[in-house]
Amino acid sequence: MTDAASSIAIIVGAGHAGGELAIALRNEGWEGRILLLGEEPHLPYHRPPLSKAYLAGSVEKSSLAIRPQAAYDKAGVEFIGGVRVNAIDRANRRLELSDGRSLNYDKLALATGGRPRPLSLGNAAAAERCANFHYLRTLADVERIRAQLAPGKRLVIVGGGYIGLEVAASASAQGLQVTVLEALPRVLQRVTAAELSAYYERKHREAGVDIRTGVQVVDLELAGERVDALLCADGARIEADLVVVGIGLIPNTELAAAAGLAVDNGILVDQHAQTSDPHIFAAGDCTNHPNHLLGRRLRLESVPNALEQSRVAAANMAGKLKAYASVPWFWSDQYELKLKMVGLSDGFERLVLRGDPASDSFSAFYLKGDKVLAADTVNRPQDFIAAKRLVAEGIAVSDAQLADDARPLKELLPTPGA
Ligand code: FAD
Repeated sequence: MTDAASSIAIIVGAGHAGGELAIALRNEGWEGRILLLGEEPHLPYHRPPLSKAYLAGSVEKSSLAIRPQAAYDKAGVEFIGGVRVNAIDRANRRLELSDGRSLNYDKLALATGGRPRPLSLGNAAAAERCANFHYLRTLADVERIRAQLAPGKRLVIVGGGYIGLEVAASASAQGLQVTVLEALPRVLQRVTAAELSAYYERKHREAGVDIRTGVQVVDLELAGERVDALLCADGARIEADLVVVGIGLIPNTELAAAAGLAVDNGILVDQHAQTSDPHIFAAGDCTNHPNHLLGRRLRLESVPNALEQSRVAAANMAGKLKAYASVPWFWSDQYELKLKMVGLSDGFERLVLRGDPASDSFSAFYLKGDKVLAADTVNRPQDFIAAKRLVAEGIAVSDAQLADDARPLKELLPTPGA
């Protein structure tokens, strides 16, 4: 039996979840060693700016680190970058590393995130070897893209989700000719109501972005080391100087699955962030976890989820009992528009608008009965704060109350202790 001081916790994946988990584990009282292993060479860094301020060149690379090295040193967290964990030997509680080393653990956390979903085209693999064809997940990806952004260049983005639209906003502001190809009938279709999609399509078109919806890319025209054009099902041939594909994420679950852990669209964890092995926890984009507020399992791709679930995992690894119960929330920055969203809108019956979209300051509420399931707020931080409580606490409201922009939303919230 290992004593507390000589026990070893290992965290695989040094992204938002892994970095937070390592620090939180120490704060929760873990006395032994804490090792944070990451395939990328960098200390954990902020991913959201990769399609926003960092792509736009308005923040420095040095500002991307979530914490400085000194913070990990102070917490006694040993960071080992540039190393991949290839296998978990659960029987012996040992990891096999890409550099040939083996490491033993007492507790293990998987924070392996995900990777971009590849285009399912016959020559997609050949396109990936082309210098002007990109996915966007890592700092290395964005460095390659940034090096190719120049006014007048033709950028074709496949995918009208958040990442695609954020890249479109940054690139069009830098003077590129941007085309967005979305297979579904509207952008952001999986996550917002038609009104919001229409609003964002209009904002992009006003900025000069060519938004094309209902367009299926069926082939890529390659010339040597370059993608020259994208061919669409409707016969269109769209020439490109560079291509960015943002069509979703595949969770990195192979390591867990190969070790025999339960996996189903993410590593299955319980409300304590524990996997099907009591010595192994998981957090962040790679997990499929229960959400008792929504009454079902979820796999989320968001920084707040990664951070909050990591803190729960850390507490439980340190022997405390803490359950994860957060309402999902997200954000997206495009142009001067700060979109903040809370809740999940699936199954909503009505959409109520508050404020006028033409003013670029409004909110949209997704209702079922008299409860708000979700809200999208554009340049309305106060609405967002109130909406978070409306969703999390299941507060009953009427459509008229939500739509009444003359009355602050916080007046609909019960006073704490009242
Ligand atoms: P990741 O950040 O993906 O980290 C996982 C790490 O694990 C990676 O570094 C990976 O290399 C490493 N790894 C994987 N397998 C292994 C292995 N076997 N061995 C060692 N290391 C391994 N979210 C928001 O909430 N708001 C936003 O505005 C927003 N914008 C985004 C913009 C972009 C361009 C991208 C790509 C994402 C954005 N997201 C946003 C999503 C957000 O970044 C993710 O939800 C978050 O990064 C998840 O953190 P994570 O630690 O779970 O995974």
